[in-house]
Amino acid sequence: MKIFNKAVFLDLNGTLVEPVQVNRLDELNIIPGSLESIAKLNNAGYLTPVITVQSRIAKGYFTSEEFYHWFKLFTERAEQQGAYLQGPYLCPHLVREKCKCAKPHTFLFNQAVDKLDIDLYKSYMIGDTPVDVFSAVNFGGRGCMVKTGWGHFRGNIEQVKLIADYIGDNLSDVVRWILEKNKQEL
Ligand SMILES: [Mg+2]
Repeated sequence: MKIFNKAVFLDLNGTLVEPVQVNRLDELNIIPGSLESIAKLNNAGYLTPVITVQSRIAKGYFTSEEFYHWFKLFTERAEQQGAYLQGPYLCPHLVREKCKCAKPHTFLFNQAVDKLDIDLYKSYMIGDTPVDVFSAVNFGGRGCMVKTGWGHFRGNIEQVKLIADYIGDNLSDVVRWILEKNKQEL
């Protein structure tokens, strides 16, 4: 019988790292506590694929190759703290291109499902914008928002209040909530 994995999909900018939009790849700062939180999810049996929109690639700030290289360095740093990220599942387009891969479409999530045998209904999405939460609604999982990045804007919180499963101060706070819920559901 095939075993399916549960996952906590993670947005990158504003959720794991600052700033919310990348202009230069050397200015990314890891939000305190992020790597430790990912390690906790991994220890509880969750895969942690990163789903990210980097429209600055379309704008010519940096190339997809340069972004992939940056992500590799980021994952190596994360692994030193026991945090294992998958991906990145990347949309490099502009919003106005109306591509099929940008969140809240489920295209990138389905790519991860095919590669990693994920059960979406047991999975979560965490991000700092309403589209991150809407993605979870679209794939049939649970959506959580962090108040880091764009998440501290009251308008964003208002938009997701009724559909988010949880809104937390930061990734550590949301992960604490997920792991508590996970314990109750075992
Ligand atoms: Mg974000």
